[in-house]
Amino acid sequence: MVGTTVFTVMSALAVQHKAINLGQGFPDFPCDRDLIAYVNQAMLDDHNQYPPMIGIPELRNSICDKIQRLYGYEYDADSEITITAGGTQGILTAVMSCVSPGDEVVIIEPAYDSYRPSIDLAGGKVIAVSLKAIRDERNQVSSYEIPWDQLEKVISSKTRLIMINTPHNPTGMVWQRSDLDKLATLVKNTNALILSDEVYEHMVYDGALHESIARHPELVNRSFLISSFGKTYHVTGWKVGYVAAPAALMKEFRKVHQFNVFTVNTPMQYGLAKYLDQSQHYLNLPNFYQTKRDFFKSGLEKTGFKLLPTSGTYFQCVDYTKIESPQSKLNEADFCTWLTTEIGVAAIPVSAFYYSPVESGVVRFCFAKKEQTLTDALQRLERL
Ligand code: GLN
Repeated sequence: MVGTTVFTVMSALAVQHKAINLGQGFPDFPCDRDLIAYVNQAMLDDHNQYPPMIGIPELRNSICDKIQRLYGYEYDADSEITITAGGTQGILTAVMSCVSPGDEVVIIEPAYDSYRPSIDLAGGKVIAVSLKAIRDERNQVSSYEIPWDQLEKVISSKTRLIMINTPHNPTGMVWQRSDLDKLATLVKNTNALILSDEVYEHMVYDGALHESIARHPELVNRSFLISSFGKTYHVTGWKVGYVAAPAALMKEFRKVHQFNVFTVNTPMQYGLAKYLDQSQHYLNLPNFYQTKRDFFKSGLEKTGFKLLPTSGTYFQCVDYTKIESPQSKLNEADFCTWLTTEIGVAAIPVSAFYYSPVESGVVRFCFAKKEQTLTDALQRLERL
């Protein structure tokens, strides 16, 4: 049984109660008019029929150039890149292409809520470990750590796939090079593949580098790399992303892709290919979002919430267990419902990213919003 995603549920609740929606992750500001002009032009130029199943060469080439420039690894545009209908489709297709019934797939919770259903659809067996919540002297969550001891226990010759996500939704944590090295050691004598969900790759703050799987020579040969234009260019509704993987993996991926979506819409691909060649658009993103993060953070610091570190993504997690309100005792889902209906700000319970909800007293806000939206939300949150 698959329920409705928490993002859909919270967005509907926000609309119903006219709450400011800091729940589901999407920008409330417009995308660049140039990008729209490029897509318009592609339509006027009659790029309106099916594109190649794997995506247009212009876009695949631009993606390869970007990955090479940023991460130093050269994928082959013809055999190792496929354009997908967003990151979520890329994830499902990658899982379906390599997981057979009974295969073990390791995920690290809190995990994006499409991972588990994707594994279920493939008949795989989910092996979930949890990030370690580090608590301060008041017993509030202050950060998360990768549970290496647990991972060491569960990764074995039976592991078919390990799904990782950096920058991480919902916690905003980012993997370091040393983390990828540890993972490389754990998988060394196994046949485990890796799915690296990097849809927030261009949102890493405080001068840090995004540690893409493509930077890691040992891991890249056994990995699917997932990315998304919706996140990078403020067009989540366009649903265009891509998957990069070694040719042997990509061959299997495409077998599923062709009967799943077949192709991804043509004019968007032309528009994105042209826009992607202008690197300033993604290179400026960390600054753009860091300003929003810092603005939102400084407002939240005046509330009773305890802020968790956000090193990447456009999410800010907060611990609400010490706010001066009886609602501080609610579970995360009920707290989010109350926050939406009574305070007028929607958030996402982090417990929704666990199969068996773990209650940490932490909720997630999305700060990919206009400054005015953040100001209005902060005004409502100030009384907490
Ligand atoms: N990735 C987005 C989030 O975490 C939402 C995607 C969706 O609504 N399925 O908020």
